[in-house]
Amino acid sequence: MNNCLFCKIIDGIIPSNKVYEDEKILAFHDINPQAPTHILVIPKCHIPSVDGVNAENANVVAYLFTKIPEIAQSAGLTGGYRVISNCGSDACQSVPHLHFHILGGRQLSDTMA
Ligand code: 5GP
Ligand code: ZN
Repeated sequence: MNNCLFCKIIDGIIPSNKVYEDEKILAFHDINPQAPTHILVIPKCHIPSVDGVNAENANVVAYLFTKIPEIAQSAGLTGGYRVISNCGSDACQSVPHLHFHILGGRQLSDTMA
């Protein structure tokens, strides 16, 4: 039994506010936005974190990154945006399914940590 929160969102067991979906990836609004626009982009296959990216699954991660500019443009982020992935406890990763935060819609801090 897969108890992963984002796998449940992919399966529709937990609802989400989707902004993009295809057979490989899903993008949806973060439930607790840290910026006016805060979108999460995830692969549909379960990869626990950046630490889990390898030669076998790197193709879906590369594909996901080709979609980030399209998702950002669709969200109106013409002034720019930040892409973040928290990996592990020091980075405060709270959901163990690989995800990339797209943050924008205001001038972001010039510090990242
Ligand atoms: P992390 O802390 O792992 O980098 O990011 C996890 C993100 O998932 C957080 O920004 C958090 O607000 C978001 N999140 C947690 N649970 C849910 C949920 O049920 N739905 C949505 N849309 N976002 C969630
Ligand atoms: Zn998962």
